[in-house]
Amino acid sequence: MADRHAVVAGAGIGGLAAALALHRRGWRVTVLERAPEPREVGAGITLMANAMRGLDALGLGTQVRRLGHDGAAGGLRAWDGRWLSRVDAEEMNRLLGTTALGVHRAALHRVLREALPAEVLWTGCAVRDADPGTGAVRYLRDGEPAELRADLVVGADGLRSALRSRLWPQSPPPAYTGSTAWRAAIPFDEPVPAAVSWGPAAEFGMVPLGDGQIYWYASTNAPAGEHAPDELAAVRERFGHWHDPIPDLLAATPPTAVLRNDLHHLAVPLGSYVRGRVALLGDAAHAMTPHLGQGACQAIEDAVTLGAVADPAGDVPAALRAYDQARRPRSQAVARAAARTARFGQELRHPAAIAVRNAMLRLTPSRTALRGMARYADWHPPQAV
Ligand SMILES: Cc1cc2nc3c(=O)[nH]c(=O)nc-3n(C[C@H](O)[C@H](O)[C@H](O)COP(=O)(O)OP(=O)(O)OC[C@H]3O[C@@H](n4cnc5c(N)ncnc54)[C@H](O)[C@@H]3O)c2cc1C
Repeated sequence: MADRHAVVAGAGIGGLAAALALHRRGWRVTVLERAPEPREVGAGITLMANAMRGLDALGLGTQVRRLGHDGAAGGLRAWDGRWLSRVDAEEMNRLLGTTALGVHRAALHRVLREALPAEVLWTGCAVRDADPGTGAVRYLRDGEPAELRADLVVGADGLRSALRSRLWPQSPPPAYTGSTAWRAAIPFDEPVPAAVSWGPAAEFGMVPLGDGQIYWYASTNAPAGEHAPDELAAVRERFGHWHDPIPDLLAATPPTAVLRNDLHHLAVPLGSYVRGRVALLGDAAHAMTPHLGQGACQAIEDAVTLGAVADPAGDVPAALRAYDQARRPRSQAVARAAARTARFGQELRHPAAIAVRNAMLRLTPSRTALRGMARYADWHPPQAV
């Protein structure tokens, strides 16, 4: 087979999964990562059944399951602790063939990294541009201009993708959703059920990660760019009176463990994920609000699909058109659903609207709620073509 070269911009979950899918398919792969060291943020992540099936297709499902907490099926609660809707892990397993998993991001990142040959990953390399016709990739290596030639270029460079801004100049930059989020992964001895709780214009989620760790996140409507001198104190003030074990989780959190990010998304969906030899993937293609826990799951789906359609002996632009057709409708539907979930859940602030929503949720049979969740999590990796 000819030595065909794929260059991936970005070593996040999406970029590493894509690099692995292409490597397994027979591509010579180089990943250019802007950061001086490969890393993920110090928080947890929920991987839904679709992501777990994608990881299974990459040969990593068992390993990742071992590092996380299986059965994080979850449920919805009101801020005072009343259950609005419960999702039974076993029922979910029966319906989807696999449960959701809570795992530390650093552990997932490490597994993906270690599955690739070490020489694939080049750190300190900031991609600036790529030519969709020739596949030339221009980047800065430790500040010095450099160039690589690729047959296939993957833009997995995240929310503020340089490749998207260069090759999709009409696409507006990511928009602020109106919400900010705090998160932390902490050691916590007590068993905690996976749950998302909604209060007026606020949400608190908790996910067991295994290994005695819990991941919590909190989000609320807020002006863009707002920061508190002590972010943990800001979370305590907003959520410290919510149901158990939220006060205990916050009490067990060291201030240095708390990350805060404003939430942005691509409010105007792209008309294509592909330009010639260049394909966007993950947040670069479809950054969405985290309210369905699907951003990274969709990035893994993208990666596995790319590996399935991109035969190293085949026509790259044609393969990327197939990638676009397979991925754009689904990932953009999931992004729209995530934004709807935000409006229906965390962003809702009017007491009457909240009362109606909560009543509706309590009246919905858990099977129906489960089927609603399964709609987005039920995905099967495509066969290689
Ligand atoms: C609060 C919060 C909670 C979330 N929870 C979940 C969840 O539970 N489940 C879920 O599935 N998703 C979740 N998400 C979404 C998920 O984090 C993202 O969708 C996912 O990390 C996107 O991965 P990515 O690889 O596309 O991008 P990123 O993770 O952003 O990775 C991009 C990489 O590219 C690098 N890079 C950037 N620019 C360049 C450049 N010019 N050249 C080279 N490298 C570059 C960056 O350094 C980075 O390493 C959450 C998001 C937030 C904010």
